Order: sequence, then structure tokens, then C-alpha cells
Amino acid sequence: MTYPIDKIRNDFPILNQKINGLPLVYLDNAATTQKPKAVVSRLSDYYLMENANVHRGVHYLSIQATEEYEKARQYIADYINAEKKEEIIFTRGTTESVNLLARVMAPWINKGDDVLVTAMEHHSNLVPWQEICRERNARLRIVPINADGSLDLNFLDKLLKPTVKLLAVTHISNTLGTINPVKEIIKLSHDKGVPVLIDGAQGIAHNPVDVQDMGADFYAFSGHKIYGPMGIGVLYGRETWLRRLPPYQFGGEMIEKVTFEESTFNVLPYKYEAGTPNVAGAIGLEAALRYVRQIGIEEIDIHEKQLLAAATSQLEQIEGVRIFGTAKEKAGVLSFLINGIHPYDLGTLLDQMGVAVRTGHHCAEPLMDTLGITGTVRASFGMYNTLEEVDIFIKAVKQAVKMLR
Ligand code: PMP
Repeated sequence: MTYPIDKIRNDFPILNQKINGLPLVYLDNAATTQKPKAVVSRLSDYYLMENANVHRGVHYLSIQATEEYEKARQYIADYINAEKKEEIIFTRGTTESVNLLARVMAPWINKGDDVLVTAMEHHSNLVPWQEICRERNARLRIVPINADGSLDLNFLDKLLKPTVKLLAVTHISNTLGTINPVKEIIKLSHDKGVPVLIDGAQGIAHNPVDVQDMGADFYAFSGHKIYGPMGIGVLYGRETWLRRLPPYQFGGEMIEKVTFEESTFNVLPYKYEAGTPNVAGAIGLEAALRYVRQIGIEEIDIHEKQLLAAATSQLEQIEGVRIFGTAKEKAGVLSFLINGIHPYDLGTLLDQMGVAVRTGHHCAEPLMDTLGITGTVRASFGMYNTLEEVDIFIKAVKQAVKMLR
């Protein structure tokens, strides 16, 4: 079957507009993806016709909203092949998922312990661990990267010791595009008794995710990176872990029995969902995953890799270009610099030509330090980008380079 690009583009009206008089070429998908009509209409149906608070009403709308919310949880559990829907905790996004885990794991992390992160982590999967290590007098150890932007697995193997309480590693680097061999990494870690959190903020949108097959103890992702709403995300955690760990926030929903003296806590997953949840967000995320499934994540992956290959080979021909992240296993993220040109200047000129890219450190400042640079220009592809857009992007880069030189 041919890839249904016309249908897809038609489903995303935002793409069909002019910026500065020129057709929008949206290449900032690693920051956030656009939303198909199916997601927006699901949100609007919910708010216009179905809205109610969940888990506490006896009335029709509340019961319906609760059912839809729990159906979304089940759909997401099936989508990532979690064993049980109780292993799906709704959060605001990847950042909150990581913070939740860091907070509840803190009592397990003591003086002399280590937490491992990698040199390619987004700040969201680095700073929370840095803070917990500081608080608990533990050490944060960094798994380095190789010159091509892949992880140094030999070094990782050496760092995995009985003092390590957790390895937190990204599935796909938002800056380099590197797809980490998470199954292999988890096996290495588990062989040494170390649990693993996978930051799936990018992974979820470009790869099939099967948490049981990969063996993840925890997997975090955001709805907005996979064509879903902002403000909703997931922390998947294995039931055995989630049962053992303490609650995160305290208040309504997460309790079983409350007296003025003390409280007992609800069962999974509610133990981790204090307060009124983002019901629309959860339902909208289900709609997004349904949409992705209908196109096929493997088909999307093949399509994006074609775009990446075309963009990379054309970009390489531009004099003075340096591409960061050339690992063999790489998703549709292209970070680069052009000698003598500031990334911000290039990004601004591209915007004037209708091309939306990201410039800067991409929330990975320590990675920039490792690479000896302050930032890059990043083009990142989504399911709706086209080869024609790649050509427009390359032409725009060439034109900008001419102007800036
Ligand atoms: N990790 C990675 C790899 C990311 O790309 C991002 C978003 N850029 C995050 C974490 C944080 O996600 P959010 O801002 O949705 O919480």
C-alpha cells in the first residue's frame, strides 16, 4: 500500500497555511507535533457533550466520563503492551513522569549510591536525578557517547555496579536522533540488578513500543509528541515497582480512608493520580494513538527515514556543514551547523522563508558541552512531512547561507 500522504495532510489543517507569504514547512516535530482533526474533534465532543468529573459521581455524565477515561487507560496499556492498565499512570507529560519517579524513588537512594543517566539526556531526564542525588548524597554518573552519537555501551557495562539504583536513558535522542538499543541496554542493566527508566518522549512517536518485550521497568512519554494533546502524558511502571513505591502527591482520588489523624491510600493506578485528572487529555491521547495506529507506526517510521535520508544527503553537499548525530540507528532528527553561521541567524532566515526549525541547545546543554558547541539548527520530521518539503528546506538553507556569508 502506498503511504497515504494526501489523506494525512488533509487531516492536519494547520499545515495548509502560509507563513510570511510562503507555504508552511513544519520541521519542529521533536518539539511538538501537530494534531489531526480526529484528536481535536474528540476533545471538542468531550467538552461540548460529555464533560464531568470522574470516579466520584453517581450521575450519567460522570459514569460515562469515568468509563471513557478508563477506556483510554486500557487503550494506552494495549498500545505499549503493558501487562495491566493499572500500570498506566496519567501525568502532565514526560517531565512530570520523570519527576514523579524521582520523587518516589528518593527514599531508595542513599549516600554512596549511584544513579546513571547518559550524556544525551534531555534536561527532563537529567535535572530531576541531579536534584535527587544532591538531596540524598548520591552520585550521578554519566554514560558517555561515541563520536557518532551512539551510546558507549562498554562504558555503561563498567558503570553498572551494585551501588546503582537506577539507569535513566532516552529511547531516542531529541538532539542527535540516535535510537538507543533499549532492549539490549535493559538486559545489560537487569543482569546487574539495575532497574531502568526509558524516556520515551521521542521514542513513542517513531517506533513501535512494547514495554514487556523491551523489559522496561518504567517508560515515560508525552501526548503532544505523538499527535495528541498537550498537558497529558504517561508513566508506565511495572506493577511490582508501583506497589512498592510510595505515593507522589496527596489529596483527593489517591486516598482510601481519611481521618484527621491519618490516611490510607488507594490502589493502583489511583495512588499516583491525586486530584481531578486531565480526562479530556487522556481521551484525546487515545484518539491520537488510534490515528497513528490507523496509519501504522512502522509505515510512519519508514516514511520519516526516507525524509531523513534525503535531507541528510542534500545537506551534506552544502559547504561547511557539520551534522551532529550519525549513528546507524537514527530517527528523523537532523541537527547541524554551518561553519561561520550562527544557528539562530540561520533559523530566523528559514522562518522568513516559511520553514519552522528549532535552534539552540534543545534542552540538552551538557550534550552541547560534550560536543563543544553552544547549539545547533534542528530539523525534525513527522508523519505528514514530504520530500517536496525537504527540497524547500534545503533550498532555503542554501539561500540563507548565501545571504549570511
Ligand atoms: N525527553 C525528551 C527526549 C524530549 O524530547 C522531551 C521534549 N522535548 C522531553 C523529555 C520533555 O517532554 P515534555 O516537555 O513533554 O515533558
